[in-house]
Amino acid sequence: MNAPLNIAVADLPGTPAAPVWSNRFRALGSSFFTELPPQPLPDPHWVATSPGCAELLGLPPDWAQREGWNALQVFSGNAVWEGMQPLASVYSGHQFGVWAGQLGDGRALWLGEMSTPNGPMEMQLKGAGLTPYSRMGDGRAVLRSSIREFLCSEAMHGLGIPTTRALCITGSTQLPVRREEVETAAVVARAAPSFIRFGHFEHFAHHEQPAPLRQLADFVIAQHYPECADAAQPYAALLEAVARRTAELMADWQAVGFCHGVMNTDNMSILGLTIDYGPFGFLDQFDPGHICNHTDHQGRYAYARQPNVGFWNLHALAQALLPLIGDSDTALTALEPYKSAFPQALLARMRGKLGLRHIEDADRALVDDLLKLMAADKADFTITFRRLANFGTASGADNAPVRDMFIDRDAFDAWAQRYAERLQLEGSVDTDRRLAMNRVNPRVVLRNHLAEVAILQAKAGDFSEIERLLTVLSRPFDEATGSAASAAYAGFPPEWAQSIEVSCSS
Ligand code: AMP
Ligand code: MG
Repeated sequence: MNAPLNIAVADLPGTPAAPVWSNRFRALGSSFFTELPPQPLPDPHWVATSPGCAELLGLPPDWAQREGWNALQVFSGNAVWEGMQPLASVYSGHQFGVWAGQLGDGRALWLGEMSTPNGPMEMQLKGAGLTPYSRMGDGRAVLRSSIREFLCSEAMHGLGIPTTRALCITGSTQLPVRREEVETAAVVARAAPSFIRFGHFEHFAHHEQPAPLRQLADFVIAQHYPECADAAQPYAALLEAVARRTAELMADWQAVGFCHGVMNTDNMSILGLTIDYGPFGFLDQFDPGHICNHTDHQGRYAYARQPNVGFWNLHALAQALLPLIGDSDTALTALEPYKSAFPQALLARMRGKLGLRHIEDADRALVDDLLKLMAADKADFTITFRRLANFGTASGADNAPVRDMFIDRDAFDAWAQRYAERLQLEGSVDTDRRLAMNRVNPRVVLRNHLAEVAILQAKAGDFSEIERLLTVLSRPFDEATGSAASAAYAGFPPEWAQSIEVSCSS
């Protein structure tokens, strides 16, 4: 492999300086990674850029085209900026409940840590070629899956859900990539305060290497959980803090109907971020048993199972931290808060989705009964909640739009009666509630068919739909701007959406 190409970054007079790089992860030492340059992507072109992510990183609006920056070559893996120190990290993990042994960044490359107005952000290229951890893979990502990761990262952020971000996609028509069929290669540049996963800890625990395990835990505490350093038992405190963040994340996912699809421990962020977008999906019709990953035959990662899987994965992390924590009772005690934190977080979000400001004992039953009706009648998850915002509490109010979501109208009417009484109990004002509900119930989510349309056009060389979709998904709570196209993003999925199959093959 060629040595990294050092390309000095020109600092144009009177404009923001080029990004400054450091790499604290690299300072951990060579047992954590292998240094290597990205593999070139032949004749790259831009596919998409995210203005929101660029702003987060403090990049100037013209960063992608800026003279002397060579951004297209850098973010496709053909060059590096001065200060970038590319490396692939090693991790292990449990896949589908089974110990999978060593994994690692098989197609992601850490570029380093960028100084940004929002603190240091690690940058990675996904799909930048073979690494020592590629196993049977080719180190590449196809255009299709890169578009999905790019759009969903930015969509999740738009929804207010913790996630890794995506800065851009570059592509090449000159590099065929073999999946079920031959596709073309693309590279996503993504950003996060840390890309460390549960699997990084599992790796060193499995290999009985307490020194790097401790080093990693100390690193994560110092960088991201400084409050744990002062705890009586810092490693147990870290575990508890991760458990709490994971509980919040699971509540976020459930509340918008997001299914991750591959909740293996190597795809679990130590910061509680949504990470590694593969065969994810948003619920169309509400089905608690929905399996978004075509290859998940057992439904291990079905929608309703995600919170329990999160807890299972936290047990794997606890097991990995055991040499540092000392005894399993302390570790289990650190996980205990998850059991109450998750249901509380979810109920709080569901109250918000129903526009309830006060807390009443019967709220849980009210929420559960609505979800049961939605499941029985296969009501569209996003549209039902969005329409519920227009619910009128006055007797004789026209609630037809939301009522029409249900086949069993009598059952809905009975529920609506309880809902109206509950709203009256707290003196809820229809207009105020509507505004509040429309701030938490998205009008648009990245349904599979929306991504599919953008992908099909992109494969034909037209990337404009990615940009339009990105704009809509960045503001998912906003009302339609009036254009017919925009309204279509919020509509029911077409018939053909049901035949879309997404799998791990990406
Ligand atoms: P995933 O569950 O998709 O996040 O990936 C599981 C493991 O497989 C990780 O170690 C990835 O880096 C690796 N991997 C996935 N796809 C590829 C690929 N095309 N080439 C090399 N490694 C891959
Ligand atoms: Mg992964």
